[in-house]
Amino acid sequence: MGKAVLIPKDDQEKMKELFKINQFNLMASDLIALNRSLPDVRLEGCKTKVYPDELPNTSVVIVFHNEAWSTLLRTVYSVINRSPHYLLSEVILVDDASERDFLKLTLENYVKNLEVPVKIIRMEERSGLIRARLRGAAASKGQVITFLDAHCECTVGWLEPLLARIKEDRKTVVCPIIDVISDDTFEYMAGSDMTYGGFNWKLNFRWYPVPQREMDRRKGDRTLPVRTPTMAGGLFSIDRNYFEEIGTYDAGMDIWGGENLEMSFRIWQCGGSLEIVTCSHVGHVFRKATPYTFPGGTGHVINKNNRRLAEVWMDEFKDFFYIISPGKQF
Ligand code: UDP
Ligand code: MN
Repeated sequence: MGKAVLIPKDDQEKMKELFKINQFNLMASDLIALNRSLPDVRLEGCKTKVYPDELPNTSVVIVFHNEAWSTLLRTVYSVINRSPHYLLSEVILVDDASERDFLKLTLENYVKNLEVPVKIIRMEERSGLIRARLRGAAASKGQVITFLDAHCECTVGWLEPLLARIKEDRKTVVCPIIDVISDDTFEYMAGSDMTYGGFNWKLNFRWYPVPQREMDRRKGDRTLPVRTPTMAGGLFSIDRNYFEEIGTYDAGMDIWGGENLEMSFRIWQCGGSLEIVTCSHVGHVFRKATPYTFPGGTGHVINKNNRRLAEVWMDEFKDFFYIISPGKQF
């Protein structure tokens, strides 16, 4: 039920060692069932909503680089066990040139026995999450593409409200509420429906309180989707054709960073809208540090991505960014 795992004193040295591998408590994660149960954290009004029978189906695309076995498989199980199978076209795992042995043949053999087709695609070289997601999207068949990080857990009823909103308006790109899976204990904690996405002029994604005008637009009904300026980026669903119409992602962005704001600005400026569907809850392990290498250097990569974002979508507003982050070259 998403309860915290407490590691006995004697194992804490070992636990700290293992923490460094993924920058989360791997020992705790490995102690939890791959198909653990979770509480139903939805608003009461969400539990009784009825969605149309005819919803578009989705491919779920999960990219990973050196992900842990237990978090990756728990993500896959939560998708398979908590999604109606007629809505699930397939799960696509894109391996962004991981170096861990268990992510090769062992993984391939394991997923063959799952109840939903799971396809594994390998990037020839480390490309970053943007190009890895593009590869997964290109190989997918569903009417909707749902992207998830490789350390997520979907809760009951997560998928239907996302797909229903896209059916209503195919240019609406939808995010679930992102619940917090503790990086320390793997406790599952409900996220708030009262925060949405913004950014600062360093082009960092930030959470902000949902403003009163957005509450008023929804006549105070918190079960209705919230229009959000930006998204965190790891978890969203998008109509396949709309994704292609707006030009997918910027394939020139490397490794990680900036692509979430880029996609957000792209959606709003290409006639679409971005929403948080408050009846859909998916957990994500938020980490305090990134566990992997950034070929070329972290700052350099993120700055390059952010400059692409600023140059393409921000017109004169890009000056605010350059004033704060001056002199950084491609
Ligand atoms: N990822 C990837 N290649 C990279 C960096 C990240 O495939 O070079 C994957 C990573 O395994 C994860 C997703 O992209 O599934 C998002 O990365 P991460 O979780 O580190 O980002 P955060 O959630 O911390 O913003
Ligand atoms: Mn993540």
